[in-house]
Amino acid sequence: MSSIENVVANGMCVGCGGCGTATSGRIPIRLTTRGAYEADLAGVSSADKEIGSRVCPFADESKNEDEIADEAFAELQSDPRTGRYLGMYAGRITDDKAITKSSSGGLTNWTLTQLILRGEVDGVIHVGSTESPMFGYVVSHSVDELMGRRKSQYYPASFADTLRGVRGNGKRYAFVGVPCAIRSIRLVVKEDEVLAEQIAYFVGIVCGHMKSMSYAESFAWQLGIPPEEVENVDFRIKDPELTSRQYKFGAQDRRTDEWSEKQTLSLVGGSWGHAVFQLEACNYCDDIFAETADVVFGDAWLSKYEIDWRGTNVVITRNVVIDEIVREGLERGEIDVDILDIDTVAKTQGGNFRHRREGLAVRLADDEKAGRWTPRKRVAPGYGHVDAERVALIRRRREISAKSHDMFLAAKEQNDLGVYINAIKPLIDSYQQSTKMTFTTRVRNKAQREFWKVVRRVRRSN
Ligand SMILES: Cc1cc2nc3c(=O)[nH]c(=O)nc-3n(C[C@H](O)[C@H](O)[C@H](O)COP(=O)(O)OP(=O)(O)OC[C@H]3O[C@@H](n4cnc5c(N)ncnc54)[C@H](O)[C@@H]3O)c2cc1C
Ligand code: SF4
Ligand code: SF4
Repeated sequence: MSSIENVVANGMCVGCGGCGTATSGRIPIRLTTRGAYEADLAGVSSADKEIGSRVCPFADESKNEDEIADEAFAELQSDPRTGRYLGMYAGRITDDKAITKSSSGGLTNWTLTQLILRGEVDGVIHVGSTESPMFGYVVSHSVDELMGRRKSQYYPASFADTLRGVRGNGKRYAFVGVPCAIRSIRLVVKEDEVLAEQIAYFVGIVCGHMKSMSYAESFAWQLGIPPEEVENVDFRIKDPELTSRQYKFGAQDRRTDEWSEKQTLSLVGGSWGHAVFQLEACNYCDDIFAETADVVFGDAWLSKYEIDWRGTNVVITRNVVIDEIVREGLERGEIDVDILDIDTVAKTQGGNFRHRREGLAVRLADDEKAGRWTPRKRVAPGYGHVDAERVALIRRRREISAKSHDMFLAAKEQNDLGVYINAIKPLIDSYQQSTKMTFTTRVRNKAQREFWKVVRRVRRSN
């Protein structure tokens, strides 16, 4: 049996679309009632399942991140936390007006723009707004189109139809995706000579986990807009009076065109740590820094950067052209970046390491005990690295994710948001209680933020 069958049967398909692309659509990718994508293997031939298994980021037959990176970036240094690396930076674009249109420091779309302007690519395949569902993979062929599609879309997307739409058109592209999508597209181009010629750059986005479509709907509903009336959403609205972590969620009501917004952290499920609507696949993912990408962009979640409302990217380059683009942008003053060391880069994703390395080991061990199939990972199953309290937390977080999907579905069926909120809030509150920082940690974190605020004020006044 091809392991893609286990992936789908155990709900671990992330819906990336890799198998659909590699089989020219013979494996269809369908939208589920949970608001996510999933491969449909009914009636698929064994030969196609084998192809699918070779490109699926969760199948045992596919090359893992280390194997792909060893081939792609053999000459680069490696670290188990980040994968291979060339340049490491933290920073942002210097245009303070433009930066409000990006989620973080704006370096993702700035770099993609440079790739188009230099003639490295004819276009970019990335996620932007679509008619229905709200977001999906699209192609931008000009800088204007590209810049009209900024910001993080915490929304599932499958690249199968989009890739098949550009295949064979003779154009070269940069492909943007979360780590599993990049691993999958890397494997797809190994199967497909035409796409191999066309995908010139692989641009990664750091990923904590993916949300189902219910994430956007649940927030909009909390703002008074029921799921069927949501016209548009913005997951990352910046506020110059607050820190970059205190961003807002906004939604537009189709009935009135009215726009409403609220600080994300004040909404039920607004903390990423609570993992509401997390896809099951993300419980089995150990790639944080898109280790198979030519470059990866994330948020530099460190007090020094967090206090700046504009947002700050953490960046790892693994490609000389892209590294040169960053360094030249710095010289021209279009971007402002600090050079980082590997430990600082890893520190920007503390929560991610707890969930995706420590947490993964516990989940794998739990599944092993329960006799459940799991994909082969680079993390070994076990409990020895964490205390009993942490094990309980990891399990509780998993429970919140699972319950959020079911209860939101029930809320939609009963047309009552309360059904979801009343079920999920007690779980979140109890989880929050057990993750409460100690008084000393809170004071230390606050002191660090205040210190960096003073440093920033002094620098700006000089
Ligand atoms: C699901 C998800 C989870 C994330 N989790 C983390 C995390 O845990 N830690 C962290 O540091 N950063 C995380 N990020 C990345 C972060 O939110 C920013 O996307 C990143 O820092 C780039 O910001 P920017 O200002 O440079 O990008 P912008 O200039 O705003 O441009 C964003 C670019 O990314 C593309 N894009 C947006 N969403 C997607 C998507 N889903 N798939 C493919 N392309 C997309 C857009 O089309 C655009 O080209 C996550 C992003 C996503 C989508
Ligand atoms: S390749 Fe992607 S869409 Fe296909 S089964 Fe694997 S995770 Fe699902
Ligand atoms: S956490 Fe991993 S599996 Fe989930 S969307 Fe992100 S990269 Fe993909």
